Formats: sequence, C-alpha cells, structure tokens
Amino acid sequence: MQVHRLPALSDNYIFLLEEGKQAAVVDPADATPVLEALKRLHLELVAIFNTHHHADHVGGNRGLLEAFPNAAVYASRADQGRIPGQTIALKAGDRFTFAHQPVEVLFIPGHTSGHIAYYFPQSGNLFCGDTLFAGGCGRLFEGTPAQMVDSLQQLKNLPAETQVWCAHEYTLNNLRFAVTVEPENRALQERYTAVQASRQSGEATVPTTIGVEIATNPLLRWDSPSLRTLAKSQDAVKVFAYVRGLKDKF
Ligand code: ZN
Ligand code: FE
Repeated sequence: MQVHRLPALSDNYIFLLEEGKQAAVVDPADATPVLEALKRLHLELVAIFNTHHHADHVGGNRGLLEAFPNAAVYASRADQGRIPGQTIALKAGDRFTFAHQPVEVLFIPGHTSGHIAYYFPQSGNLFCGDTLFAGGCGRLFEGTPAQMVDSLQQLKNLPAETQVWCAHEYTLNNLRFAVTVEPENRALQERYTAVQASRQSGEATVPTTIGVEIATNPLLRWDSPSLRTLAKSQDAVKVFAYVRGLKDKF
C-alpha cells in the first residue's frame, strides 16, 4: 500500500491510500486536491475513512461522493449524525479490509467524544487524525484527561516503528513548547533542531513514528521523572493534564 500525503487548507494533511487500481482517503478536508490526485494516478475511490467529525476532516466528503457515489464512508459509531454521507459505523476493535489490507479500528476519544484511528498492521501505518500529533496531541474539546491518557496509551502500545500519519503540520510549534517543559531531553533537543531545518526548507514532518514520539513528545511522557517533578505528581493523568494545560496557554 502506498500513502500519498496531500496538503490542504492552511496546515491539514489528507492521506490518499493506493492499492492496485483502488484508493481510499483519510480525512478529506477538501475534495479538490483528492480529485486531482485520483485523476493523476488513475485511481478509483472506494472508501473514505474519517477519524472524527470536525469540518477540516470531513469537508470533502460530499464533493468526493458526487464524483464516486459508490464509495463507502467509514466513521465512528459515536459520530453517527455528524459525518456527511456515513455508511459504516465503527467501534473499538472492529476489523475490515481495504483492497485486501486488514484494517483495525482503535477507539481513541479525548479530542472529540467519537474519535477513532485506523491501524494497518501489515504495513505498520496508523492514521490517528487529531489525537496524537508529531510532538503533541489534540486539544481536549469533548473529553477528559483520563480518556486522552487511555487513548494515547493505546497508541503507545503499537510497535515502535509504526508510521504515524497525523492530520496537521503542527510539529515545529509543538516542539517549541516541548523544549520548555523537558529542556534536558537530548533526543528532543536533537529532534527540535532537525525539525527547524526541515521546516525551513519546506519539508513535511509527517509521518513520525511511535518510537520517536515516546522518546520526545511530552504529551506521551507522563512517566518522565522531570515531567513528574514539574507537575508535582506521580499520577499519569495528573502529569498529562498539567502538561496539556501548559500547552493550552503556550
Ligand atoms: Zn479536530
Ligand atoms: Fe483537525
């Protein structure tokens, strides 16, 4: 399976998955760049995978369905009624296939109450919307810190080499914050330097990997002694909530 990263809106990424002559798209913010890519690559769109209901993740559903009326629209069971054109309602642990590739559904609420991720175990690709970002995580619009810790822990449990395709190019700003809370983390400092260079030359910083995020993303590092000291707590949810709160004000 080949993953094409399509920039959209100001800082979104849409992912077009190519397998043989078929394609699926993850979180189409806008139909236009997807339709252009499908035409250029001579692909038929068979599925839309939405991670959550926000407009910058479902805004292209209707336009794509006009061109490909038979495409299936996969989204969370908990988002029924707020996903344009939804045909399939998914819950935790559901499995299905896209072009013979097995796909596993992770239920990861916190950013929104119905948020899901799509995990492809054979190729080691994770599409996690706005839950985990490179160097950060989504804001808690419809969930609690405890829910988000549970959701992020599910992602931390995936193999370290898993490719993480998150839906926004927020990495530089996330790491600018990260170095303020964990200044002594060498791997983080090195990543910050590398990402500054990448962004200066206009390169994308997505995908990242689970291993890199565990080593450098303070929103996953509630076990870090320095973050526990900073938050004055040994409790995962309290440490996470403290760091998330600092990021909200950054
Ligand atoms: Zn969102
Ligand atoms: Fe978003």
